[in-house]
This record gives sequence, structure tokens and C-alpha cells, in this order.
Amino acid sequence: MFDRSAHERSAPPLENAQTLTGVEDARFLTTPGAGEIFLGRRDGTPIFLNPDTTFDFRVAAGVLAPEDVAILSYAQGMLEWTRRTRFCPASGHVLEARQGGHVRFCPECAIEVYPRTDPAVMMMVTYRGKLLLAQHKGRGHAFWSTLAGFVEPGESLEEAVRRELFEETGLTARSLTYFGSQPWPLPASLMIGFVIEAEHDALTIDESELADARWYAREELDALKLSGPISLSRWMIESWRKI
Ligand SMILES: [Zn+2]
Repeated sequence: MFDRSAHERSAPPLENAQTLTGVEDARFLTTPGAGEIFLGRRDGTPIFLNPDTTFDFRVAAGVLAPEDVAILSYAQGMLEWTRRTRFCPASGHVLEARQGGHVRFCPECAIEVYPRTDPAVMMMVTYRGKLLLAQHKGRGHAFWSTLAGFVEPGESLEEAVRRELFEETGLTARSLTYFGSQPWPLPASLMIGFVIEAEHDALTIDESELADARWYAREELDALKLSGPISLSRWMIESWRKI
């Protein structure tokens, strides 16, 4: 069992502590060094993270047990934030780590900077027994996935879904239902999944965002290269395939 133990961040427990290493099996070493980030307690044992640690999150997440994937996801998010948050956004001074590495503080203007999470909506669109899948531009190898887009300032999740859906495909939603969510710490996203029933199936594809988008029947999915097995997109597609 893993506990983030946030109440201990002001004075992280060092006794019997371990450090999460950069190896892909999420091995732990004893004795954290100075400047390490306090992640919490794993079965009661304090776990730290060296900010210089490196690992391939996608590879590791595919082979670890779910609880270790959750810890690694958290660690990956903290690493990304720590590496990208070295200077004060107001004065440019070097920030100091506080609260076990969960707050970065500017000694010049007393600003506290906290880890952030960027919400992104994931949209699984259906119409009369068919599923809309898209190939997104700008990825190394093409695969078919659900639509996705970042929530903009001042937008609700539902508004973001309707805007992104219309911008990318010209579709409008007859209904919209929450599916589930997944942290995606590359670098700081929270994917929030919705199932959408479209009002029509005529597509106007935004070619700056999508390489292709098509409607597929269930029996056609086997022939497609789908998004990776640890992605929310894939979980949504598999849930529809089983209906
Ligand atoms: Zn400052």
C-alpha cells in the first residue's frame, strides 16, 4: 500500500528510508541523499526520489504491477516538474526546494511554486454502432486513437470536449458521458475521458491536427494498430469493443 503522506513533507522521515532508482523494475536503494524528493510511504517505508534519476516511463509502465506504475507515474511527474521549475517565474531567481521537494520557493519575492497538472480531454466518439478513430500528426509512428485536446483557461471540461470535437472533426455531440481519468506525467497531463454520441457522421477533418479520421465497425478494429495498452485511449476503445 502506498501513502503520499503529505503531512510529513515539512519534515520528511529519514529512518529506514529508501530511494527509488532509475532502473526499469522500480528497484529501491536505502539511504536517500540530500536534495531528494519525499514521495511518501510504501508499506510504511519512506520513499525518496533523486531528482537526477532517469527512466523510460512508457517502458516501465508496461511491465510493472499497477501499484508500482502509480508510484512511477507520480515520480515521473515530480521529476518533470522539478527539472522545469528551476527559476522564479516572477523574478528569475533560483528557486529553493521546500516541503520535501513539493514546493519551490523564491527567496527574493517569497513566491511559492507548486507542481501543476494540465487537464486534457480524451474523446471517444460513436455514431450508430461505429467508432471514430484518428491518426494524430506529429507522432513517430502512426496509430489509431481517440481524439484528445487540452482544456483552455476559463473552460469547463464539457466546453473543452465540444470545442475540440468541432474543431478537429466538425462533429457536434448529442450526448456526453464521463468515462474515467488517467495521469499522464509526460510532462504533466491528467487525461479525462468522455464518451460522446455524435449527432451526425459527416467529418470535416482539421488537417493541421489530424492525419486521418474514420468511422470503424467493431469487426474492423482487429486489423488496426491501436494506441498503446497502458493508455486511457486504449482502455476506452476496448470498453466499446466489448459492448
Ligand atoms: Zn522571485
